[in-house]
Amino acid sequence: MKLLIATSNPHKIDEIMAVVNEAGADLGLTSLKDAGVDVPEPVEDRDTFEGNALLKARYYAKASGKPCMADDSGLEVDAIGGAPGVISARYSGVTGGRDVVDPANNKKLLKALGDTPANQRTARFVCAVAVAWPNDLREPVQVRGTFEGRIITPDQAEDIHHAYAGCGTNGFGYDPLFWLEARGCTSAELSPADKNAISHRGDATRKLLAVLQSDNG
Ligand code: IMP
Repeated sequence: MKLLIATSNPHKIDEIMAVVNEAGADLGLTSLKDAGVDVPEPVEDRDTFEGNALLKARYYAKASGKPCMADDSGLEVDAIGGAPGVISARYSGVTGGRDVVDPANNKKLLKALGDTPANQRTARFVCAVAVAWPNDLREPVQVRGTFEGRIITPDQAEDIHHAYAGCGTNGFGYDPLFWLEARGCTSAELSPADKNAISHRGDATRKLLAVLQSDNG
């Protein structure tokens, strides 16, 4: 099976590929770039992770003529009504590269939480994955993975004057702020393999593999 991965985020591609390889599965995963698919990104205007994942998978399946896997992911923080949710990537409104957007999002999140006590800063990463076939030749496959943690308090950051930089430099996005009580560190302090073993994207990718493998008998 040859499956395109419809994301331009290299971190996501690495994480998904690592999980697929570790499972010994062969999905023939190819990035959009390597498959020569060069179309504008679709507008992600659905109000659920599942809706956006399916929208992207169908869009790129149509553009490429090949089955396509897409993920939509984000962070839900309980104390602020599940924000930033589906707008996690563009929460701050700042545009540009990941090096400016990620810190701006993290700054806004810490500000929104203010002095909310540690035990009320519970949060989860969610990853919805969809696989769609051109012209919906097959019923799309959809799965969801989650990853529970909490957002650090500013005094936990490595540098209290730059609390938004949190702790750790691995991963991307909100990882430096995502505290894992059982590990005593943030998800940005985990090795890539350790993050994949417990993350929302790892969880969703393993669920997807189980469905695709059972379909193939
Ligand atoms: P998407 O590209 O629309 O799925 O946006 C997902 C956004 O959610 C990313 O840009 C990050 O801000 C955040 N996010 C999703 N997964 C992770 C993760 O594993 N670590 C940190 N942030 C994440």
